[in-house]
Amino acid sequence: MSDTLIQLQALSDEFTALRRDIHQHPELGYQEFRTSELVAERLASWGYAVTRGLGGTGVVGQLVRGQGGKRLGLRADMDALPIQEATGLPHASCHAGLMHACGHDGHTATLLAAAKHLAEQGDFDGTLNLIFQPAEEGLGGARKMMEDGLFEQFPCDAIFAMHNMPGFPRGKLLLREGATMASSENITITLEGQGGHGAMPHVAIDPVVAGSAIVLGLQTIVARNVPPLQMAVITVGAFQAGQANNVIPQRATLELSVRSLDRKVHQLLNRRIRELVEAQAQSYGCQASIEFRGGYPVLVNTQPETDLARQVALELVGAENVELQTAPLTGSEDFAFMLEQLPGSYLFIGNGDQASGGHGACMVHNPNYDFDDGNIAIGAAFWARLAERFLSA
Ligand SMILES: [Zn+2]
Ligand SMILES: [Zn+2]
Repeated sequence: MSDTLIQLQALSDEFTALRRDIHQHPELGYQEFRTSELVAERLASWGYAVTRGLGGTGVVGQLVRGQGGKRLGLRADMDALPIQEATGLPHASCHAGLMHACGHDGHTATLLAAAKHLAEQGDFDGTLNLIFQPAEEGLGGARKMMEDGLFEQFPCDAIFAMHNMPGFPRGKLLLREGATMASSENITITLEGQGGHGAMPHVAIDPVVAGSAIVLGLQTIVARNVPPLQMAVITVGAFQAGQANNVIPQRATLELSVRSLDRKVHQLLNRRIRELVEAQAQSYGCQASIEFRGGYPVLVNTQPETDLARQVALELVGAENVELQTAPLTGSEDFAFMLEQLPGSYLFIGNGDQASGGHGACMVHNPNYDFDDGNIAIGAAFWARLAERFLSA
């Protein structure tokens, strides 16, 4: 076992208690007041220069050592979800309807453990920027911190982040070069028809029939326009119209979630959705308006930084505990905004499988999920070794 891992295991109890404390007090995106206070207070106590207020509740801890000019960014997320916890654990959420069901409590505790270790024993030469972001869950806290000048105030030569992954053995490190998580686009389509009596459809314009044709037509974009070896998803998650069986409604609205793993495919999907919706609506006599509400870009890991992460992972936990080119995911992640601007890599750490029992194998965003505290030492040792390698004299 590596020395760094042994040293971090000595901190495991302290940071397990901290993780469970954060877990008991979950806070939604941009409301991480208690959590960010705790993060800032700990970082300052270990000698970090602490900056608050970027992206609202975001925190950056900076530690400069030696004369080296290299600058590294490590990022963790702090927000919880509007879910009623059902684990029954002693450290379960104290707040009804709020829960750390994605393990961001664990990501924060892991980066804090690394922060303490690096401040006390870190052998590096350069600038370490530890970034604790708000609002990863759909609210784009990473982008908000960047809009507030994150990388102008704290320039980084590379940036890394880690997410836990249920269903894989505890501590298994999963890496991937290239496109790793999908882009997401949120689209609202409004179809304006002409309301009327259900008995006299010929004097009305029915947006329900037009919308139904559009739902089916959209699926042909994935089947017939996207190259077969590329991934794309078009989900119509909401279709709302009408309230009574004998009334043809005036209007119908559709809410779409669109995913892909390639920037060109993302553009193709947006273009074809617009063309198909406008043409279909017109053929039924409806007016269509399409609102592209944005989302997250494709998350792309760069090669040299992913190579470095692989070397560190192999040294730390051995080849049997590292997956070198894991499959991409159709979920999305706002760390992708940071990777659009800087080279870097986003990796996963196994949160436990069926064999390990407990709550670790339960998928994230489920009321029975819990972060595996055994990962704090492994994750923190990975961060510490990565920092020492990247910022080697
Ligand atoms: Zn998450
Ligand atoms: Zn999540």
